[in-house]
Amino acid sequence: MGWHIKPKIAYILDKSLDDGISREEAETLIRMDLHSKETYALMETADRFSRQTFGLKGENHLHIGVNLEPCPLNCRFCSLTKEAGIFTEKIEFDYQQILAWSMEAQAAGADGLNLMTTGTYPFKRLLELGSRLKQELTLPLVANTRDITHAEGEQLLEAGFVGAYHAVRLGEGRDTPLKKEKRIRTIQVFNDVGLKWMNCVEPVGPEHTPEELVELMFLAREYHATYSGVMRRVNFPGSPMEKYGMITEFEMARLVAVSRLVMGRVPKAHCTHEPHTASMTAGANLFFPEKGSSPRDDQADTGKGRARDINECRRLHWETGWDPGLPSNCF
Ligand code: SF4
Repeated sequence: MGWHIKPKIAYILDKSLDDGISREEAETLIRMDLHSKETYALMETADRFSRQTFGLKGENHLHIGVNLEPCPLNCRFCSLTKEAGIFTEKIEFDYQQILAWSMEAQAAGADGLNLMTTGTYPFKRLLELGSRLKQELTLPLVANTRDITHAEGEQLLEAGFVGAYHAVRLGEGRDTPLKKEKRIRTIQVFNDVGLKWMNCVEPVGPEHTPEELVELMFLAREYHATYSGVMRRVNFPGSPMEKYGMITEFEMARLVAVSRLVMGRVPKAHCTHEPHTASMTAGANLFFPEKGSSPRDDQADTGKGRARDINECRRLHWETGWDPGLPSNCF
């Protein structure tokens, strides 16, 4: 009898694939002991669900941080801020460098290209960059930038972007100067104009409550995110969040599994960041190899710092039984 899991948890997991789970049930799953039979059963359920619905496709979307600057918005978890004091000058990676990174990833089998800019980067320059890259690449383009209007959403489409990454971050309005409502309005803009909305529950730290996490998981479901997994906060040296510590990859895998069950049949993929194996056996199938600036690094080009490249991401896919060579489900 010792092998049985608690009936209440068995009930939630059994019905999850057909009927979904409630907010209360999601919170219950997050609160379970990490190294319990119930948590392993949760991860197995989410993993099985993803393998059934994503057809064993392992996705890799290259993420390029186009510029860095001492960002005046000073989000407390970000290494690119003025307050962090790590970067003192503006750097913009030049077009040829961005193209070379993109071509390399495309040749290695990447499925998409996310272009990230800091909070005050000129929107027009992002449009120009997208249009130029569009001429030379077959990779679908995803923008990751500030809040936008409907007119700006149309401009992204005209420039060749097919999607946009945008998250209401954990602690939005508390650890950032931005308003949650405005972030959600931008997500509605994507849905209105026909840009695919990409999301992640991020950046997770040990101090976030199950209620906060579950609220953002359900936001992703309600607004039909193309994908919405989990990214943990990485504390850069001297980060004001260092006092809270960081969650482990295994804790992240538990949250990846809960968010997978919350998302149900809505998403086309399920992401985790930074790349690691545990979440790939708990419902995730999408990695972001990285180049250029990163809000988690103290190196200007994270490709020379903490980032994993596409070949390493593909290796992690193979190690966990996903096939990065299959066609993408996201675009
Ligand atoms: S997360 Fe973005 S907006 Fe916030 S400080 Fe970093 S670069 Fe600026």
